[in-house]
Amino acid sequence: MGLPDKESGNPLKIITYPHPTLRRVAKPVRRVDAELKRIVREMFDLMYEAKGIGLAANQVDMPIRLFIVNLEAEAGKGEELVFINPVLSRPKGSDEAEEGCLSLPGIYGPVTRPKQIHLNAYSITGQEFSAPLTGLFARVVQHEFDHLDGVLFPDRMSDTTRAGFREMLEEFEVDFNSRRSVGEFGADSVIEQGWWDWEKRYS
Ligand SMILES: [Zn+2]
Repeated sequence: MGLPDKESGNPLKIITYPHPTLRRVAKPVRRVDAELKRIVREMFDLMYEAKGIGLAANQVDMPIRLFIVNLEAEAGKGEELVFINPVLSRPKGSDEAEEGCLSLPGIYGPVTRPKQIHLNAYSITGQEFSAPLTGLFARVVQHEFDHLDGVLFPDRMSDTTRAGFREMLEEFEVDFNSRRSVGEFGADSVIEQGWWDWEKRYS
Protein backbone atom coordinates (compact mmCIF):
# COMPACT_ATOMS: atom_id res chain seq x y z
CA MET A 1 0.00 0.00 0.00
CA GLY A 2 1.25 3.47 -0.83
CA LEU A 3 1.06 6.55 1.28
CA PRO A 4 -2.32 6.77 3.02
CA ASP A 5 -2.80 10.41 2.21
CA LYS A 6 -5.45 12.32 0.35
CA GLU A 7 -3.73 11.98 -3.02
CA SER A 8 -3.54 8.19 -2.97
CA GLY A 9 -6.82 7.78 -1.11
CA ASN A 10 -5.54 4.77 0.84
CA PRO A 11 -6.94 4.70 4.37
CA LEU A 12 -4.64 3.63 7.17
CA LYS A 13 -5.49 0.19 8.53
CA ILE A 14 -4.01 -2.47 10.76
CA ILE A 15 -2.44 -5.32 8.79
CA THR A 16 -2.45 -8.87 10.11
CA TYR A 17 -0.07 -11.83 10.09
CA PRO A 18 1.55 -12.92 7.77
CA HIS A 19 1.58 -9.60 5.86
CA PRO A 20 5.24 -9.11 4.76
CA THR A 21 5.52 -5.59 6.27
CA LEU A 22 5.29 -7.22 9.72
CA ARG A 23 8.65 -8.90 8.93
CA ARG A 24 10.28 -5.80 7.49
CA VAL A 25 13.02 -4.35 9.73
CA ALA A 26 11.90 -0.73 10.12
CA LYS A 27 14.19 2.18 9.20
CA PRO A 28 15.08 5.03 11.59
CA VAL A 29 12.96 8.16 11.32
CA ARG A 30 14.97 11.17 10.10
CA ARG A 31 12.21 13.74 9.98
CA VAL A 32 8.71 14.40 11.28
CA ASP A 33 6.26 16.43 9.23
CA ALA A 34 2.60 17.41 9.58
CA GLU A 35 1.56 14.35 7.61
CA LEU A 36 3.37 12.01 10.02
CA LYS A 37 1.71 13.76 12.98
CA ARG A 38 -1.66 13.22 11.31
CA ILE A 39 -0.83 9.55 10.74
CA VAL A 40 0.14 9.13 14.41
CA ARG A 41 -3.23 10.62 15.40
CA GLU A 42 -4.92 8.12 13.12
CA MET A 43 -2.86 5.28 14.64
CA PHE A 44 -4.22 6.17 18.10
CA ASP A 45 -7.78 6.11 16.74
CA LEU A 46 -7.21 2.71 15.10
CA MET A 47 -5.62 1.37 18.28
CA TYR A 48 -8.56 2.47 20.46
CA GLU A 49 -11.02 1.03 17.97
CA ALA A 50 -9.24 -2.32 18.29
CA LYS A 51 -8.94 -1.94 22.08
CA GLY A 52 -5.15 -2.14 22.00
CA ILE A 53 -2.56 -0.58 24.32
CA GLY A 54 0.27 -0.38 21.78
CA LEU A 55 0.66 -0.15 18.01
CA ALA A 56 3.82 -0.10 15.90
CA ALA A 57 4.14 1.66 12.54
CA ASN A 58 4.86 -1.70 10.83
CA GLN A 59 1.33 -2.71 11.81
CA VAL A 60 -0.13 0.03 9.64
CA ASP A 61 2.13 -0.99 6.74
CA MET A 62 4.70 1.72 7.43
CA PRO A 63 8.18 0.28 8.16
CA ILE A 64 9.70 3.18 10.10
CA ARG A 65 10.90 3.12 13.73
CA LEU A 66 7.91 4.53 15.56
CA PHE A 67 5.30 3.10 17.91
CA ILE A 68 2.56 4.40 20.18
CA VAL A 69 1.30 3.33 23.61
CA ASN A 70 -1.63 4.18 25.85
CA LEU A 71 -1.96 1.74 28.73
CA GLU A 72 -5.62 2.75 29.22
CA ALA A 73 -6.55 1.73 25.63
CA GLU A 74 -9.17 4.46 25.53
CA ALA A 75 -9.42 7.94 24.01
CA GLY A 76 -9.42 10.70 26.63
CA LYS A 77 -7.98 8.38 29.29
CA GLY A 78 -4.39 7.68 30.28
CA GLU A 79 -1.41 9.15 28.49
CA GLU A 80 -0.80 9.05 24.74
CA LEU A 81 2.87 8.24 24.21
CA VAL A 82 4.80 8.28 20.93
CA PHE A 83 8.22 6.62 20.72
CA ILE A 84 10.49 7.41 17.78
CA ASN A 85 13.81 5.61 17.13
CA PRO A 86 13.63 3.79 20.50
CA VAL A 87 16.67 2.07 22.01
CA LEU A 88 16.31 -0.53 24.76
CA SER A 89 19.13 -1.36 27.17
CA ARG A 90 19.95 -2.75 30.63
CA PRO A 91 17.44 -5.65 30.70
CA LYS A 92 16.95 -7.02 34.20
CA GLY A 93 15.09 -10.01 35.60
CA SER A 94 12.60 -12.20 33.83
CA ASP A 95 8.84 -12.32 33.89
CA GLU A 96 6.15 -14.37 32.15
CA ALA A 97 2.77 -12.87 31.22
CA GLU A 98 0.08 -13.31 28.60
CA GLU A 99 0.29 -11.15 25.49
CA GLY A 100 -1.90 -10.47 22.50
CA CYS A 101 -1.35 -8.50 19.30
CA LEU A 102 -3.63 -6.46 17.03
CA SER A 103 -1.95 -8.14 14.05
CA LEU A 104 -2.76 -11.61 15.42
CA PRO A 105 -6.33 -11.12 16.68
CA GLY A 106 -7.60 -13.95 18.89
CA ILE A 107 -4.17 -15.29 19.84
CA TYR A 108 -3.18 -14.82 23.48
CA GLY A 109 -0.29 -16.66 25.05
CA PRO A 110 2.48 -16.48 27.65
CA VAL A 111 5.73 -14.75 26.74
CA THR A 112 8.84 -14.48 28.93
CA ARG A 113 10.66 -11.14 28.79
CA PRO A 114 13.00 -9.06 30.95
CA LYS A 115 11.04 -7.60 33.84
CA GLN A 116 12.79 -4.25 33.66
CA ILE A 117 14.25 -2.33 30.77
CA HIS A 118 15.77 1.08 30.14
CA LEU A 119 14.30 3.06 27.25
CA ASN A 120 15.69 5.95 25.20
CA ALA A 121 13.57 7.49 22.45
CA TYR A 122 12.42 10.71 20.80
CA SER A 123 8.98 12.23 21.12
CA ILE A 124 6.93 13.48 18.17
CA THR A 125 8.25 17.00 18.90
CA GLY A 126 11.85 15.78 18.67
CA GLN A 127 12.57 15.77 22.40
CA GLU A 128 14.91 13.01 23.56
CA PHE A 129 13.78 11.20 26.69
CA SER A 130 14.82 8.18 28.71
CA ALA A 131 13.27 6.16 31.51
CA PRO A 132 13.55 2.88 33.38
CA LEU A 133 10.41 0.80 32.77
CA THR A 134 8.83 -2.07 34.70
CA GLY A 135 5.58 -4.03 34.74
CA LEU A 136 3.06 -3.77 31.91
CA PHE A 137 4.75 -0.65 30.54
CA ALA A 138 8.06 -2.53 30.13
CA ARG A 139 6.23 -5.42 28.48
CA VAL A 140 4.26 -3.38 25.94
CA VAL A 141 7.34 -1.36 24.98
CA GLN A 142 9.35 -4.56 24.39
CA HIS A 143 6.48 -6.04 22.35
CA GLU A 144 6.20 -2.92 20.17
CA PHE A 145 9.97 -2.60 19.85
CA ASP A 146 10.04 -6.17 18.51
CA HIS A 147 7.62 -5.15 15.75
CA LEU A 148 10.17 -2.61 14.49
CA ASP A 149 12.64 -5.47 14.07
CA GLY A 150 10.09 -7.66 12.31
CA VAL A 151 9.62 -9.88 15.38
CA LEU A 152 6.14 -11.09 16.40
CA PHE A 153 5.23 -12.31 19.85
CA PRO A 154 4.75 -15.99 18.90
CA ASP A 155 8.48 -15.91 17.94
CA ARG A 156 9.14 -15.26 21.65
CA MET A 157 6.96 -18.13 22.91
CA SER A 158 8.46 -21.42 24.01
CA ASP A 159 8.34 -24.09 21.26
CA THR A 160 5.63 -26.02 23.11
CA THR A 161 3.45 -22.94 23.61
CA ARG A 162 3.83 -21.92 19.98
CA ALA A 163 2.99 -25.46 18.82
CA GLY A 164 -0.37 -25.01 20.54
CA PHE A 165 -1.10 -22.06 18.23
CA ARG A 166 0.11 -23.71 15.03
CA GLU A 167 -3.36 -24.31 13.60
CA MET A 168 -4.48 -20.75 14.32
CA LEU A 169 -1.35 -19.37 12.66
CA GLU A 170 -1.94 -21.60 9.65
CA GLU A 171 -5.50 -20.28 9.39
CA PHE A 172 -4.11 -16.73 9.26
CA GLU A 173 -1.74 -17.85 6.50
CA VAL A 174 -4.49 -19.49 4.44
CA ASP A 175 -6.72 -16.45 4.84
CA PHE A 176 -3.93 -14.05 3.90
CA ASN A 177 -2.96 -16.09 0.83
CA SER A 178 -6.52 -16.21 -0.44
CA ARG A 179 -6.91 -12.44 0.01
CA ARG A 180 -3.59 -11.95 -1.71
CA SER A 181 -4.65 -14.21 -4.62
CA VAL A 182 -7.66 -11.98 -5.36
CA GLY A 183 -5.38 -8.95 -5.41
CA GLU A 184 -6.30 -7.36 -2.08
CA PHE A 185 -2.71 -6.29 -1.42
CA GLY A 186 -1.60 -5.83 -5.00
CA ALA A 187 1.49 -7.61 -6.33
CA ASP A 188 4.46 -8.06 -3.99
CA SER A 189 6.14 -5.29 -5.97
CA VAL A 190 3.32 -2.94 -4.89
CA ILE A 191 3.91 -3.82 -1.20
CA GLU A 192 7.65 -3.20 -1.66
CA GLN A 193 7.02 0.08 -3.46
CA GLY A 194 5.01 1.16 -0.40
CA TRP A 195 8.03 0.47 1.85
CA TRP A 196 10.33 2.52 -0.38
CA ASP A 197 7.84 5.40 -0.49
CA TRP A 198 7.76 5.57 3.33
CA GLU A 199 11.52 5.15 3.66
CA LYS A 200 12.20 7.85 1.10
CA ARG A 201 9.85 10.23 2.87
CA TYR A 202 10.88 9.68 6.50
CA SER A 203 14.23 7.91 6.75
ZN1 LIG B 1 1.79 -6.60 18.36
